[in-house]
Amino acid sequence: MTQALIQVRDLHKEFKLRSAWLGGRRQVVRAVNGVSFDIHPGEALGIVGESGCGKSTLGRCLLRLIEPTSGQIFYRGENLLGLDGRQMRLMRRELQIIFQDPYASLNPRMKVGRIVGEGIEVHGLAKGKQKRALVEEILRRVGLPTDAYDRYPHEFSGGQRQRIGIARALAVQPKFVVADEPVSALDVSIQAQVINLLQDLQEEFGLAYLFIAHDLRVVEHISHRVAIMYLGKIVEIASREELYGNPLHPYTRALLSAIPQPDPGAKSRRIRLLGDPPAPTAPPAGCAFHPRCEYAEERCRVEIPELLEGGSGHAVACHVFPARRKEAEG
Ligand code: SF4
Repeated sequence: MTQALIQVRDLHKEFKLRSAWLGGRRQVVRAVNGVSFDIHPGEALGIVGESGCGKSTLGRCLLRLIEPTSGQIFYRGENLLGLDGRQMRLMRRELQIIFQDPYASLNPRMKVGRIVGEGIEVHGLAKGKQKRALVEEILRRVGLPTDAYDRYPHEFSGGQRQRIGIARALAVQPKFVVADEPVSALDVSIQAQVINLLQDLQEEFGLAYLFIAHDLRVVEHISHRVAIMYLGKIVEIASREELYGNPLHPYTRALLSAIPQPDPGAKSRRIRLLGDPPAPTAPPAGCAFHPRCEYAEERCRVEIPELLEGGSGHAVACHVFPARRKEAEG
């Protein structure tokens, strides 16, 4: 196995809020709560979970767009949290992000050529005619017309604007890209085109992705491995084949059961989760999923399950379901 490109160890991010409801008392949201994983060169790790589970905060922490509270992040063995501001800015050439909202993430007063070429200039990769040629080449590669260079973002459709966002991230030839819900704001008909483009670019440039989504359907084709997040923690992580074929966490099973079946005659049992997600300011004791879990036992209400690997890189944090499954099979 090649050395990991990204290594995340016991990462935490807490936000402190003041609540008017509680007479101005401070509350702590543990948006990322002890997360660890590796990403290898050229690998796409999908991160899936409901809104508010901490997946976007995690993505931003990896690039230090938000400062983590504690933990470690290594890129090619170098501790990113030990870098000063200047060193981190230089490092960002290799670590890029594609944002969810193509409308909000592009400066409407800048022409596309300037938006995409800005990083090339900042990192001294090219200037003048050479820079223009580089930008036109990347615009062509992401499927935009080369005359896009002299046009403004508002002249493009949502899917095209996301292509501009992708071109901006790739212009500096990164090695690792956080794709933060890159298709959530797009029509379903456009989503597949953008995912295919990201997949092609990954193969062509050997990119590694952290691909964030709230829907398992979206990450299925692009991810080599998939991690499921619930209230700031990874509750299951496995290869794509294992996770979709042999899900071991009740939450993963519920998410999978919600994927629409292409064959209307196919039998599927939709697993309905009990209740709403708990408030991140007051997560339940024990397993945070227990108030919504049909398998919950007494132990689940008091003891936090560890993320334990059961072989071939498939790890799950659940006291009950994997053991019951084993018994049933054995
Ligand atoms: Fe459900 Fe208990 Fe497993 Fe949590 S530990 S997912 S509550 S069975």
